[in-house]
Amino acid sequence: MHQQHHSLISASLGTQREIISFHFGEEKYKQVYIQTALHGDEIPGMAVSWYLKQKLMALESAGRLRAGFTLVPVANPLALSQHWQGTHLGRFHSESGQDFNRRFPSLGEKLAAELDGSLTPNESENKRLIRDAIDRHYHDVIARTELEAQRFTLMRMASQADLMIDHQRAASAAEEPAISAEVAAPVIGGDELALVTANAEDIAAPRRERWRRSRYRKRST
Ligand SMILES: [Zn+2]
Repeated sequence: MHQQHHSLISASLGTQREIISFHFGEEKYKQVYIQTALHGDEIPGMAVSWYLKQKLMALESAGRLRAGFTLVPVANPLALSQHWQGTHLGRFHSESGQDFNRRFPSLGEKLAAELDGSLTPNESENKRLIRDAIDRHYHDVIARTELEAQRFTLMRMASQADLMIDHQRAASAAEEPAISAEVAAPVIGGDELALVTANAEDIAAPRRERWRRSRYRKRST
């Protein structure tokens, strides 16, 4: 595992926030991106991330990961810091009023123009070209605000993934299953969170996958 610190532009003199990402496994198979708590006060998501981090570290040490993983436990350090007289306000950006889960950049037209004539019937090559173009965009673009820098940083990482899981869960829903995405369990290789399986055998270790599927069937009856 290694971690990266992505500095955001400063909102005011004397402050600077950062997004921290943790990276596991090898990207040569597939790439999985997981972020939690985009609305800041979604504490259960951060708890899930802590758990996943331990699991991913163990699986990586055992050589059992079949994908590269990027984990961002605190996707929104801006929202995490917003409080008003003891109440956590995580949904809207206090300065602009914007919902934190809106206004992500849309690069479709830009990419279409940039890649016009470059794409071929080779799917994997096209994927590489598109991802490289997105990465170049976020490398070159200049964020005007701290919020914009945060959105760009998240989008840059997420856009490189084959599977992206955006785990948002309010504290009031903490009793519900932690991640219900059907593809989550096999790529993570976990079971204690009662994660549901799906068809991603190419990512998970097959033997553990069979074991966990039988376990899930028992639980679901
Ligand atoms: Zn949310």
